[in-house]
Amino acid sequence: MDITLSKQQIQDAAHTAYDFAAKVTGGANANYIPYLANIAPSLFGLSVMLPDGTAFNIGDTGYRFGIESVSKVPTAILAMRQHTPAGVLEKIGADATGLPFNSIFAILLENDHPSTPLVNAGAISACSMIDPKGDSDAKWKAITDNITDLCGSAPQLIDELYHSESATNFNNRAITWLLKNYDRIYDDPDMSLDLYTRQCSLGVTSSQLAAMAATIASGGVCPVNGKRVFDPAIAPKITTLIATVGFYQHTGDWLYTSGIPAKSGVGGGVLGVLPGVLGIAAFAPPLDDAGNSVKAQAAIKKFMQTLGLGIMNGDRVTIA
Ligand code: GLU
Repeated sequence: MDITLSKQQIQDAAHTAYDFAAKVTGGANANYIPYLANIAPSLFGLSVMLPDGTAFNIGDTGYRFGIESVSKVPTAILAMRQHTPAGVLEKIGADATGLPFNSIFAILLENDHPSTPLVNAGAISACSMIDPKGDSDAKWKAITDNITDLCGSAPQLIDELYHSESATNFNNRAITWLLKNYDRIYDDPDMSLDLYTRQCSLGVTSSQLAAMAATIASGGVCPVNGKRVFDPAIAPKITTLIATVGFYQHTGDWLYTSGIPAKSGVGGGVLGVLPGVLGIAAFAPPLDDAGNSVKAQAAIKKFMQTLGLGIMNGDRVTIA
């Protein structure tokens, strides 16, 4: 079916979704990272960006929160830019784990493979893949420049979050050294873990994440400034990874009920990609039992339902 949507309809749907989700309660802030436990749970923002750069922002869309696991998306893109999608498949994999984001068991089950760059194990491995090897500052610059290009504006490190996370990331240290044991860390292990921890501690706004999502939806061109960030062949690969593991052990339920591939982070952010159509992001700190923001999920689902959109629907969507 052909669906034609006006920008007004999209804006109205965003307001409907925001008002609906604002009343949804439940969930709790992540408490295993002390900084996140103290963020105001009432914060809530919803942002949509279209491929032509039109943006709709409602609520706390200028608040900088910890990007956390959503950072796995841009660094997976960077690893594909530097080493091709086939190289990422060979060195890390593209399999859903069906297990929590920080699972050690998943590494053992996947026959020593980190599974996918969108779980902790694969994301630490992806940080180790980033060039130039052996140079922490240059790798960090490559990681943050890539995020800046995808968002059309720069993220900012939240120092307090970085320290909070570095002091408590014992599980991730175990993952890193287990992967090293299996030859799945491609640079210094401590440096790779530190880069991963630092990228999780970057502060971003929901409007920046919507721009990143819109860059992916647009096949690699950032709608904010028209700059081509990555080869169009990478777009379906990263969207596949997001669709298959973006919500960890709830990914199937999420895609089934929302119709949009999306990636969550324990900072409360969610980034959703509808290829060729739009990028969407929402932020609210309280999380469900798998670590996914309760309000952000409600808002994005309501938005999709209101417009009758779904990646599996087979519709051709035009924005007039
Ligand atoms: N920095 C967090 C961790 O590694 C990210 C987890 C997430 O957002 O899912 O535990």
